[in-house]
Amino acid sequence: MGPLAVIGGSGAYDLLARDYSGARNLGRRETPFGPSAPVRELELNGRRTLFLSRHGETGYHCTARFVNYRANVYALRELGVTRVLAWSGPGAIEPSLEIGQYVVPDDLLDETHARDDTYFTGGSLGFVRQSPVFCPALREAALEACRATGAATRDGGTYACTEGPRLETPAEVRKLRIMGADLVGMTLAPEVFLAKELTMCYAAVCYVTNYAESLAHKPFVPGVLFEGLLDSSEVACVDAAVAGFAQIVAQVAAAEPGDCHCARLLDRYKRRGTIGEDWREWIGR
Ligand SMILES: [Zn+2]
Repeated sequence: MGPLAVIGGSGAYDLLARDYSGARNLGRRETPFGPSAPVRELELNGRRTLFLSRHGETGYHCTARFVNYRANVYALRELGVTRVLAWSGPGAIEPSLEIGQYVVPDDLLDETHARDDTYFTGGSLGFVRQSPVFCPALREAALEACRATGAATRDGGTYACTEGPRLETPAEVRKLRIMGADLVGMTLAPEVFLAKELTMCYAAVCYVTNYAESLAHKPFVPGVLFEGLLDSSEVACVDAAVAGFAQIVAQVAAAEPGDCHCARLLDRYKRRGTIGEDWREWIGR
């Protein structure tokens, strides 16, 4: 089994630095798509585990729209990673969700429109099945780890991924709700699709950060996070959820891989000779 990699969102690097100060810095990795975000390597429960800060390590200096997803996923695959756990703090569209609650999504609406979302740019590879979107075995491990913290955890939900960097308009939130979205964020697409193209398992742990625009009356407050979309009691709930990060990651890193089809997603193309066993040669096919 290859190592687990965690792709962390905003603030996750601070947690890593606090909880795992001994992590080895592998730096930015060169890839055919340019340099990846910085990668760290550490031991968790005796398992080699990698950590990539999606938005950079010194704050939110690369917003979701401008993340080099292809470089990041490529770099992790090259480092031997077979399982990716994404850590994401989306907003809630489903009103029964609570701020700070963990959600392990099981479906995705891709509302992005300006991202490089495939490695197969040559046109010779066609379909990659997207049901289930997220690896069921890794999802199960993530669910168990979230529940083990004692925090409220929801099994399943549809994550809508918008382009950003702006937040959604009230009408867009209404549209996403009609379309079945429970959460709205900006990071899981195309990350999950790219991981699947390289036959890696991918699942996400979301912690609800705020209610999406128009779900609750939130007056504009200048100079604070999300300009008032989040009040101080909600910030405490988010902080409590984020505090569970290290425990969740350690448990998932130690989990035995379950039964899934992720590693065999491209077998049809291998059988017909379009691609071989070396995944590096798949790029651009
Ligand atoms: Zn899998």
